[in-house]
Amino acid sequence: MKPDALLYPAPKGLYCEIGDFYIDPVQPVDRALITHGHSDHARAGHGQVLATRETLDIMRIRYGEGFCGTSQAVALGETIIVNGVEVRFHPAGHVLGSAQISVMAKGTRIVVSGDYKRRRDPTCLAFEPVPCDVFITEATFGLPVFHHPDDRAEMQKLLTSLKQFPERTHVVGAYALGKAQRVIALLREQGYDEPIYIHGALQKLCDYYRSEGIDLGEIRPATLAADDKQDFAGTVVIGPPAAFADRWARRFVDPLAIFASGWMMIRQRAKQRGVELPLVISDHCDWPELTQTIREIGPAQVWVTHGREEALVRWCELEGIAARPLHLVGYDDEGE
Ligand SMILES: [Zn+2]
Repeated sequence: MKPDALLYPAPKGLYCEIGDFYIDPVQPVDRALITHGHSDHARAGHGQVLATRETLDIMRIRYGEGFCGTSQAVALGETIIVNGVEVRFHPAGHVLGSAQISVMAKGTRIVVSGDYKRRRDPTCLAFEPVPCDVFITEATFGLPVFHHPDDRAEMQKLLTSLKQFPERTHVVGAYALGKAQRVIALLREQGYDEPIYIHGALQKLCDYYRSEGIDLGEIRPATLAADDKQDFAGTVVIGPPAAFADRWARRFVDPLAIFASGWMMIRQRAKQRGVELPLVISDHCDWPELTQTIREIGPAQVWVTHGREEALVRWCELEGIAARPLHLVGYDDEGE
């Protein structure tokens, strides 16, 4: 069957008419298949939600028990049939519980990768290439200028700074789901065994990652009451990016502003945010990972969703792969 008859972009998101379900819909729908827990992909208010157990747990943590009508946990690799459409979830390597969703009917397979990356991440399973007719890829960093450096070297910059400036509080901005836990896990892998202090907004998700067996070492709340003399000098404090906007970071002793994001590749962005130490740590593919993945999977067609669609579409065409942008709206770069 023609891929367009299996899955197409509708106003509420990618829609499978035969199966009567949406993937990562941006508005409430009767049946939603969700790739991962970032808020632009996983929204509250759907009737039925199918996702990995971890993604359902994360949605529950973020939105509360009543986040949907009914939910069904789908195991990775398990085949489920939704109105005659064969659906399978495969690891995406993006954050804990993240999955690509494979949709097949009448011999045509489309893989919706959601958000993904190819490099090793101690906090989630690695991306699994799935052969398919159509590969739907994000393009957050879909320009040849984007080459993310080795994350261990990036973490070393933080460890070096801690040695050089032992009197300053190293305040790291990192997204609450995925990035914060990855930064902590990477620090632990590099042998940093001091307590790490976290903003209250990260507590539940860090607790959840630990309950899933991810080693985050000793974590303490970064509580700082007005009359509190607790001194955070020389420590690592992690908070969500929004906390930096409300001046939270400035309450610490001589704060050194750090931000962990793929966007830190762009000096201008770091400067705008007042970041002293930018750490280029991304949960999305850079350009070489995007193009390597497409070559590896070798699909007949590539559909490009959110991000820098045009450059990747052009690259595919030059490689002799039919490609088109989907122009889906409603996806930002949360988690980046
Ligand atoms: Zn994401």
